[in-house]
Amino acid sequence: MAQINSPTPSDFIRDIIDEHMKTSRFHGCVATRFPPEPNGYLHIGHAKSVCLNFGIAAQYGGTCNLRMDDTDPSGETQEYVDSIIRDVKWLGFDWEGRLYYASDYYEQLYQYAVQLIKEGKAYVCSLSADEIREHRGTLTEPGKESLYRNRSIEENFDLFNRMRAGEFEDGTHVLRARIDMVSPNIVMRDPVIYRIKRAHHYRTGTKWCIYPMYDFAHCLSDSIEKITHSICTLEFENNRPLYDWILDQLKLDAHPQQIEFARLNLNYTVLSKRRLIELVGKGSVTGWDDPRMPTIAGMRRRGYTPEAIRNFCERIGVAKNDSLIDMALLEHCVREDLNERAPRVLGVLRPLRLVIDNYPEDQAEEFDSPYHPQNPELGSRKVPFSRTLYIEREDFMENPPKKFYRLAPGREVRLRYGYFIKCVDVLKDPKTGEVVEVHCTYDPETRSGFAPDGRKVDATIHWVSAEHSVPAEVRLYDRFFKVANPMGEEGDFTKYLNPKSLERIDSCRLEPSLKGAAPGSRYQFERLGYFCVDPIDSSPGKLAFNRIVPLRDSWGKMTGQENK
Ligand code: ATP
Ligand code: MG
Repeated sequence: MAQINSPTPSDFIRDIIDEHMKTSRFHGCVATRFPPEPNGYLHIGHAKSVCLNFGIAAQYGGTCNLRMDDTDPSGETQEYVDSIIRDVKWLGFDWEGRLYYASDYYEQLYQYAVQLIKEGKAYVCSLSADEIREHRGTLTEPGKESLYRNRSIEENFDLFNRMRAGEFEDGTHVLRARIDMVSPNIVMRDPVIYRIKRAHHYRTGTKWCIYPMYDFAHCLSDSIEKITHSICTLEFENNRPLYDWILDQLKLDAHPQQIEFARLNLNYTVLSKRRLIELVGKGSVTGWDDPRMPTIAGMRRRGYTPEAIRNFCERIGVAKNDSLIDMALLEHCVREDLNERAPRVLGVLRPLRLVIDNYPEDQAEEFDSPYHPQNPELGSRKVPFSRTLYIEREDFMENPPKKFYRLAPGREVRLRYGYFIKCVDVLKDPKTGEVVEVHCTYDPETRSGFAPDGRKVDATIHWVSAEHSVPAEVRLYDRFFKVANPMGEEGDFTKYLNPKSLERIDSCRLEPSLKGAAPGSRYQFERLGYFCVDPIDSSPGKLAFNRIVPLRDSWGKMTGQENK
């Protein structure tokens, strides 16, 4: 079980559990579950639920099951199951062998449905889907009873068996709970609990042609697994009476308490599997693990750490009212974690050649440079230095405005880990006028980074030695969507995708220590941000890095610009 090294969180769910502990409602036991439907990859909203369920189990010395809630054959696949297992594991949680599938309970669920029929609490209804909807009524109008509501137990039993045996077409009959068509809660107006659906299920194949509805399968799966606290999102609040009704009618001893909390919403992205499937399907992204996606797979590929995600989930806490969390908070958690542990290295994204005229042509030296200013345990590496360097194009300006303190003609700056250099000349492309090479002199007395005569410089810039450096592709990411709440805007949400969410730069130059950088390893490129070796596209001969996050929060600034 993942260790979260911070004070034990407290919230309304834990308050409820504390109360249950006091009253011995569940004999001092806490058993939770995380129940994803394998019809897509997990996103950061699911991570909130994972952290909550596994976190509560750990805190109370209980257990948390991983359950595939696979009762709808359409769209469910083994690939999604595998991805869920991989992601929950990666987040740092352990279900200790308790991986369950609702589809394994089909026979048992069927028997429960038969029990309801035999007690006159469920009936086969042969209205069409439209008719059922019309009969249901509205918030202000009561529902109307189906003319099939009073079928005999024998007839219902017979029809339900024949539904299972495949005698009827899809949609011709359903099994409904016999509750109350005038209930003020629409959910309780004889909800459908089984339907006929001929579709191939990724685990049970064509064995079944009837499938239980979520409301029926979920509470019973919870009860079968002896879950004590069934934590779900707020949209199921109205379904709680149905959850309880089913378990009560079947007189099941294991009757979990359903508790609802507000789902996570994050700005500048979408957290809905259906929308994410659409983006993958349309090719708006490269796949579920596209580093711009709010999926766990995307975040892992981008370089986010499980620690940062867990920390984020803990910080946002759980509440009963919906809110839109700022993406900046998630990035802050990522930065905070990487600041502690990422080795610092030098890399140049947009190289500009710089020649040190008074540095001997055949000379080279090495700076022994620590990987982390505060953490000597990370060790050090040698950074080669020579006459020709690359610096960041934006660290030089021929005609700098007042507040530009970096390199410019006649200006002296410090090179990270080394000498002071002074710009003495520039070479330009005769056609475009663009500066293509900067010429400098260096002061050999300043190798320590300081001048013996005490003179100061205003800036320190990063660099790499041209001949020693290694080439790399770097991908920079910006907001996924142009607007904070794409689902709140008019029309198709994909209209609001940010066309500049990905920028590829393919001529970057990195210090040679990065040559064999392992896929998935993370670094701070000084002054530029945190970067991760892309686990898929990178190879020793062709390095590819993703920017995980810049060094400072640029979200506020960007929003400000947009509002102008
Ligand atoms: P989506 O709306 O993305 O399709 P879902 O609720 O249909 O999600 P499930 O696979 O059923 O997806 O979700 C598994 C668990 O994760 C459920 O208990 C659900 O309540 C929880 N969950 C899903 N989305 C969020 C979210 N944004 N915030 C918190 N919990 C979530
Ligand atoms: Mg769901």
